[in-house]
Order: sequence, then C-alpha cells, then structure tokens
Amino acid sequence: MTDYSVFEKGVKISVESDGKYYPAEVKAVSKTGVKICFVGYVGDEWVQADRIRSKLLQNAAPKQSGGKTAVQTGKDAGAGALGKMTSYKGCVLAEYIWLDAHQTPRSKTKVLTARPTKISDLPVWNYDGSSTEQAEGGNSEINIKPRAIFDDPFRGYPHVLVMTDAYNAWDDKPAIGNTRAACAELHETYKKHDAWYGIEQEYTLMKPGKVGAAPTVPYGFNADGSAPAAQGPYYTGAGTGIAIGRPVADEHLVKCLKAGVKITGINAEVMPGQWEYQIGPCRGIEIGDHMAVSRYIMLRVTESHDVVCSFSPKPADGDWNGAGCHTNFSTKEMRDKGGYEVILKVCEAFGKVSAEHIAVYGEGNDKRLTGKHETCSITQFKFGVADRGASIRIPRDAEKNGRGYMEDRRPAANCDPYRVCGRIMQTAGECLAA
Ligand code: ADP
Ligand code: MN
Ligand code: MN
Ligand code: MN
Repeated sequence: MTDYSVFEKGVKISVESDGKYYPAEVKAVSKTGVKICFVGYVGDEWVQADRIRSKLLQNAAPKQSGGKTAVQTGKDAGAGALGKMTSYKGCVLAEYIWLDAHQTPRSKTKVLTARPTKISDLPVWNYDGSSTEQAEGGNSEINIKPRAIFDDPFRGYPHVLVMTDAYNAWDDKPAIGNTRAACAELHETYKKHDAWYGIEQEYTLMKPGKVGAAPTVPYGFNADGSAPAAQGPYYTGAGTGIAIGRPVADEHLVKCLKAGVKITGINAEVMPGQWEYQIGPCRGIEIGDHMAVSRYIMLRVTESHDVVCSFSPKPADGDWNGAGCHTNFSTKEMRDKGGYEVILKVCEAFGKVSAEHIAVYGEGNDKRLTGKHETCSITQFKFGVADRGASIRIPRDAEKNGRGYMEDRRPAANCDPYRVCGRIMQTAGECLAA
C-alpha cells in the first residue's frame, strides 16, 4: 500500500500523462491517491503512485522491521552487482509480461537489485521467440522493452509486474504480434484529442479439457457436459447454479485493484459461467497496457480455480450469447460542450470504414455478430441512442447532456485492444482533422 500522507497540499510533483511526466501541484490527499492539477492547466485529477514521480514517494516504502534486509528502490544494478552481493534477500522480483504472436500474454521472472519506480529503472530483457512463433530458431532472440509497471498482486510488495512490448533483436523492428508500437504512434499523432477508452471485457469460464487445447465445455454446463436451463437468470444473478464462477471474477477484480490496473467493475453475463469486467477510462495507449495486464492477471487467477478462461467470441454454439469487448470511446471534443454533435460526426465516419474496423475487431466475430443476442449483424452498420442492437450505441446521457462518449459494440472478446483502439483513433482523428 502506498502511503499518500507523505504528500501535502501545495507540494509540486511530477505526474505522468500519455507516457510523459509533467509538473503538477497537489490539491488534496486521500488514503487511495492524490488529487493534482497540471501546472498551467485547468481541472483536477486523482492519480495513484504508478503515475507519480517524487522523492517523497521513494522514501515512503514500508518500514523494515528488525533483522529484515531493506529493499532498495530505483535502478536495477544487474548481474554485475548481483555477482558481488553476499545475499539476494533484499531483491525484488519483476514478472516481465509480453504478448505472443496470438496476443496471448506470456511472462518470465527477473530478479532485480531494486524496486523500480520508473520505466528507465528497468533493463530491456529478451526471450526465445522461436518458442512463441515470433522468430526462427537460428535467429531467435526477441527483446522486450518495459512500458508500464504494476504492483505484483500475487507475490505482494515489493515485487512488480512489468508490461513490455517485443522487438526483433536483429533489426529492432516491432516483433510479430507487437501491435502496441503502431497504436502508440497513432495516439502520439492525435494526442491533442486526448482519447479516453473504457473496455468491457467479457469472458467465459470453461471446464479444463485436453491439456493445451482450446476448451469446449463451458464451466456453467452440467457435470456430464449437457446444457443447463436456457439463458435468463444468469445475467447479474446471484446464487448456486446461477452465478457460476464468482470466486474467479471477484479474485480477479481485487487482484487488478491491488496491481494498480484501472478496473471499474464486474458483472455476471447472460450465458452461465460468463462474466464481464470493465477497464478504464484509460488515456490513449494506456488502455492496451491495462487490458493486457488484466488478461494476464485473469490467466493467473484461473490457475488456482481449476477453470479455464476463454476469450472466444462464441464459446458455445447454439442459443448462447457470444462474448465481446464493447469499446467506449471519447475525445476531448466529445466530452466538451457541443460534444454530442462531434459524436454524431464521428459515428458517420465510422460507417464509411466499417469493414476496415471489423477486420481488426477479432477473429471469429462473424459467429457472434449475427443480429441476435444484443448484437448488430457483421454486414450492417447502425448507430443509435440507447440501441443495444446497433453497431455503435450512444448512451442516453450523452444525448441528454449534449456531450459524452460512444460505445462501439462490435469488438470481440478476443480482440487486440491495441489494434482496436489504434483503428478507432485513426478514423476519429482523420474525421476531426477534416
Ligand atoms: P454498459 O452499460 O455498456 O454495460 P459499462 O458500465 O459496462 O457499460 O461500461 C462503460 C465503460 O465506459 C466503462 O469502462 C467506463 O470506464 C467507460 N467510460 C465512461 N465514460 C467514458 C468516456 N467519457 N470515454 C470513454 N470511456 C468512458
Ligand atoms: Mn457492461
Ligand atoms: Mn456485457
Ligand atoms: Mn456495453
């Protein structure tokens, strides 16, 4: 737990926005964060330790009780330093996470000499890309560059999770599966629009099947694999045989909060054993990092519940809901006065490139976007206020308040948030520039 009481009103600190640090003034302090105002800007914002750079915070590590080795904070000193140390007791574990060729999170552990407080404290690392379909055996090295630091909710303090993206060691180009690089570039190009994203990740818990193979029987199905009673009672339901897998959904929520992942809620979904969690609002590229780490935490949580998490858009054939990743999106212009008109304009622009969006919204999405089960058909494009059968829903509040955000309901549960949000930014950015 970060001790925010080390900050006082009026103190100047450095706060991250879109990957860069800017001067800010502390306006208020609570148990869970600090309210700041960027110097020269209007408006306040609550931020947590992951976005704050300050000497005060570095000194605020929990006091070590007698006999224990104190944990250092700052830059990792590397193997050269480890070699000279008599004990590794004060070391910090960093779980480096990256995405493989299929956007599935993978990770490995590095022992660091200190707890990192910023990205540049962390070394670039590498792995064998030939084992993840990202390189050839004879030239297999892939470098992973740290991009975001989270607390490790599994190992606890002082250990960390490190989200990275992957580059070929031989030419330093983004590796196969590294879609973050292009997404970051698009958000840099259009940064003046200050894009916010909130993603509703739906997933379906499944019974473990053949080792390593995609599971086929939903966790919510009967012990003999036969189908349960029809959909109806499961969505937001409670009770045995209704809310199936709640311990997984709940543990995931708590672990995400502990890690510093921006999670805002969970709910049981329409199909038995199907759940949703929401990430965001995140600013720009941050959405992809928080989504990737949230999925990683989910995979880790399921390890201790004898259940498999499927992000398939249609995990079971038949009259069962698919699973999506509704992507809520706004720019500064949409959130400001007159924003409703901007939302309508951007929705029109989305209609003109619908196929291009669908192309990056996830594999197998055609089985989900059928026009049934609260979806619009994959071959159609519609937007409308409060319309859950539309491709894009404009919340009723946005119409009422004349500003707000829009919800693209098309992305599938297995979509790549970097590609989805990159494409959304591209279409919206081009439209707003015109
Ligand atoms: P639904 O009614 O579609 O189930 P949810 O409450 O599950 O909606 O999700 C709404 C999402 O929209 C949340 O992730 C939230 O963070 C996000 N959101 C709210 N306001 C904005 C905004 N201005 N820009 C982008 N996303 C937003
Ligand atoms: Mn939702
Ligand atoms: Mn949902
Ligand atoms: Mn939704």
